[in-house]
Amino acid sequence: MVQINLEYPPIMGKTYSLFGTSDSTSEYFETIRILTDRIQALDRNTSVLIESIKNFSLNKSKLKMSLRKKESDDLMSLILNIIDPCLKKYTENTEVHLRKLPLSKMWDRRLATTREQYHLYMIEIELSNRLFLSEFIKADQKIALMPYCLQDFSVKCKSEKQGFDYKCLHCSARCYQNHASLILDASNIEPFIWMDGDMKKLAKYTLSKKKTFGVLGIACIPELTWGIRNCRKSNIPVIGVPLNANRCTRWYGEFFPNSIDLNELERLVTS
Ligand code: SF4
Repeated sequence: MVQINLEYPPIMGKTYSLFGTSDSTSEYFETIRILTDRIQALDRNTSVLIESIKNFSLNKSKLKMSLRKKESDDLMSLILNIIDPCLKKYTENTEVHLRKLPLSKMWDRRLATTREQYHLYMIEIELSNRLFLSEFIKADQKIALMPYCLQDFSVKCKSEKQGFDYKCLHCSARCYQNHASLILDASNIEPFIWMDGDMKKLAKYTLSKKKTFGVLGIACIPELTWGIRNCRKSNIPVIGVPLNANRCTRWYGEFFPNSIDLNELERLVTS
């Protein structure tokens, strides 16, 4: 087990925070596991469930109507009514953000994510982890893609381009990239700070050498969900851990320090 000694203050994002009303994020991950167990009891086929949840999430107005149908037995209403009461404390800022979002930015699917979509994405990420974890762990080449916003902005980052993309050189004990990289390395997952690496090209190259390839993503919830979907479409085993909040330039016009639940990351890659 990698020793972690890092401050872990609650942070708020533009639309969500995995801290909710707690001073840790372990409650969020435990809640997601319990809710996902309940949803899997509705349909045991995880691939079918993931596809259904993905399709539900595409229709925002239908989601709102389905959530209002408390007694309905259609799958979308059942799922939304199971998850909404438990997950809404993590997405409290979403509606204010959407009210203030200029029309010209509504085309950006990530920025325009609704509360119901966030909740479905949270479950979709957990279902994908359950579906792909063993295949990912067995892959010959495993990479992790970490976002720039996880670094320690108080130091001059010494990361450098190595192979596919940038690698952390461990210059700061207060940096989440540093700790995440150590956890990933210990599990034979090559960690990269994702700047300009062409993931599809690397996957194609690896597969052409008759080796299997897996990806672990770390990103804010909408970004991670779309990344996981793209990998699924390309038959790449993919797992992921969401950032604790959305605090990068896409959301604020500048970067604010972010964090990830390192215990959860370690739990995932060593399970
Ligand atoms: S620890 Fe790594 S990612 Fe963080 S600032 Fe230093 S080199 Fe950059």
